[in-house]
Amino acid sequence: MPYDINDTHDPKLESWVESANDPESDFPIQNLPFVYMASPDDMGSAEHLGLRIGDSILNLYELSHVVPILGKSARGEELFHLENGPSLLDGASSGLGQQIRKRLQELLGSSASDALRAQISEHLFPEDECFLEHIQPLDYTDFYASLHHATNVGSMFRPDNPLLPNYKHIPIGYHGRASSIVPSGTPVRRPVGQQAPAEEGGSPQFGPCKMLDFELEMGMIIGRGNELGEPISIADAEDHVFGMCIVNDWSARDLQKWEYQPLGPFLAKSFATSVSPYIVTMEALAPFRTPAFARAAGDPQPLPYLDSDYNRTSGGIDITCEVWLASEQMRSRDLAPVRLCKSSFKDLYWTLAQFVTHHTVNGCNLQPGDLLASGTISGATRDSRGSMLELTWDGDPWANPPVVVPGTQRTPIKLPTGEERKFLADGDEVIIKAYCEREGFRRIGFGECRGTIEAART
Ligand code: MN
Repeated sequence: MPYDINDTHDPKLESWVESANDPESDFPIQNLPFVYMASPDDMGSAEHLGLRIGDSILNLYELSHVVPILGKSARGEELFHLENGPSLLDGASSGLGQQIRKRLQELLGSSASDALRAQISEHLFPEDECFLEHIQPLDYTDFYASLHHATNVGSMFRPDNPLLPNYKHIPIGYHGRASSIVPSGTPVRRPVGQQAPAEEGGSPQFGPCKMLDFELEMGMIIGRGNELGEPISIADAEDHVFGMCIVNDWSARDLQKWEYQPLGPFLAKSFATSVSPYIVTMEALAPFRTPAFARAAGDPQPLPYLDSDYNRTSGGIDITCEVWLASEQMRSRDLAPVRLCKSSFKDLYWTLAQFVTHHTVNGCNLQPGDLLASGTISGATRDSRGSMLELTWDGDPWANPPVVVPGTQRTPIKLPTGEERKFLADGDEVIIKAYCEREGFRRIGFGECRGTIEAART
């Protein structure tokens, strides 16, 4: 069953880690996201599981050797090593995660004894001194769940027929590439590839991508998998999700336009996908649940296998998502990044439970650690569009009456340096932020997902 709001969400809870009590922090004691990490004095790679609290990282693997984490007596250190990460992901969906969350709040809460604080402090490090890694998924699927995004993009390429007839019946997705998923901060090299011929009937062009883009997305990390041939029902779907992170599905639009028919995206997407390191658990997100997207009168209802009372009333999550940009020139002049857009995960046409259930309805097996991403999160207004493809486009199918223009009519975004962007330039840094706010609850956040564009290989 999905998580209820409980004592662990009490906004009055405070931590003895002072930075966690800053109301602006993404990481108060009500959040406690997991991360793969190595402590500063560790020579190895990020083999331990840690958690973020305020501006610090707590090494749970090291701590579990001196302080029991699973309960008063069970230590559980084996759970907090990379080799066994999947068992934590698995357990987290089955009540173990709740037990750990409660215990960690005791350890980090303001009523912890001085002796305990001293023991814990030895395994608590400033975030910027730790080596952080993302969870490396075995498999990655990207959905297309924003009706606004699908309609905007469809209007550019098929002005007469923007939304294909399947869209409101079936969560559309494509199978992404897990090997090129990279942690936040990894530079992204501009891809080279084929682009459509300049004239009809001519030869395709070949060279560096000229229409490089980001896609603002959120990802779901699978906790418990399913056996091949055993679908996951909508009632059980959320029990299989461990938590969420930020995703940037970098996209080469000119490569995509030439290659996408008839089998969907391929090299336009597989050169890199950036993910944020912190996994915010589904339990931490409980206060921010919303109804599923309100379908317009006349829209079809989901087929019964994709429908439930719970999904209708609470299938959405209000996660505010923002994209910021800093060009190389802006950074060299110490100018702050500018915000390009702001939208919310709750405005997606399909819910995360529907992703899981639809993905497995044919018997396909999900495995612990798999990544399911939402697709670009765009809203109805121009400043809530989650990609450059949409942000600089002059059409607006959501205006009354709709403004439908060919895909090439664009107004560039002006940067504070006077530079202009229709798509991303070399040296541009894209920063995605995500957070949840609700009256009566403590704000929690996902941190950031960053990536800077490097020039194409010549
Ligand atoms: Mn995408």
